Amino acid sequence: MPEGIIVKALSGYYYVQGEHGGEPVQCRGRGIFKKRGESPLVGDRVVYGETENGEGTVDEILPRSSELARPPVANADLAVLAFSVVRPELSLGLLDKFLVHIEHAGLDAVIVLTKLDRIPEGEEGERIRRDVAAAEALYSAIGYRVLKTSAHRGEGLDELRTVLAGHINVLAGQSGVGKSSLVNALVPGLQLETNEISDKLGRGKHTTRHVELVPLAGGGYMADTPGFSQLDFAELGIDEIGSCFREFAELSSSCKFRGCTHTHEPQCAVLEAKEQGRIADSRYDNYASFMTEWKENKRRY
Ligand code: GDP
Ligand code: ZN
Repeated sequence: MPEGIIVKALSGYYYVQGEHGGEPVQCRGRGIFKKRGESPLVGDRVVYGETENGEGTVDEILPRSSELARPPVANADLAVLAFSVVRPELSLGLLDKFLVHIEHAGLDAVIVLTKLDRIPEGEEGERIRRDVAAAEALYSAIGYRVLKTSAHRGEGLDELRTVLAGHINVLAGQSGVGKSSLVNALVPGLQLETNEISDKLGRGKHTTRHVELVPLAGGGYMADTPGFSQLDFAELGIDEIGSCFREFAELSSSCKFRGCTHTHEPQCAVLEAKEQGRIADSRYDNYASFMTEWKENKRRY
């Protein structure tokens, strides 16, 4: 029986892209899924069978490596985290918050800095360039790929294409940072609405759309609906936040106390590293503020 990947789900049909190319096969799910409370997702690797009329059935869902709720996608393994360097300006607090959610979902992340062409001349531009260089150094040292791009000038896109190839990619990043522009420049044939267009039509983007995986030229897929739009900590346990900071996670086995929160405990390896400058102040401060935010959210519900 052939294996394939569900690239689209619509009106009770699953569109399965077979391993050997060609058009996706329109499939029904087997009744047994419903009975078991299973539901095939876009991104699922499946075993399917073709029926006479050119359609097919999804017979088996292969084990998932990840599962996102928004957008509903299985097996995504790389988050393309877009952050503009101007309009809006780079916010490391927000960047770290996205990273926590991406790490928690079990995806790798590539940080894509956008709108590099928009940095102004003069002192203001100098300051932005320094901040961008510092962020690039900081996140590279932690182990994230950082790419500098301009969708308008086509800069950094070849490198990004190489990074995305072979993965199931999901876009992330706040509104207006240039996600749609980036993907439109990157994936020929995929036309995400940019903000200008949706403003004119007077409606938000990606409102009631279904998610679809768009094949990439170098192999792999891009989900056409951004994810990680909800950035509260409702789905995380307080003890999980620290492990979503990669450089803390490595150190925490050396903390004296198990379940160390890295805030006040003696002989905490994370606090020691912070004192010695091996952990960036911004990373630690964001961690501390997420811990506070988590506790405040809990109190409210
Ligand atoms: P999204 O909300 O993240 O999908 O962002 P959009 O792709 O809709 O872009 C938001 C705004 O930023 C639009 O006005 C784009 O024209 C602009 N923009 C996007 N990419 C670039 C870029 O590389 N350079 C410049 N100067 N502007 C950009
Ligand atoms: Zn600790």
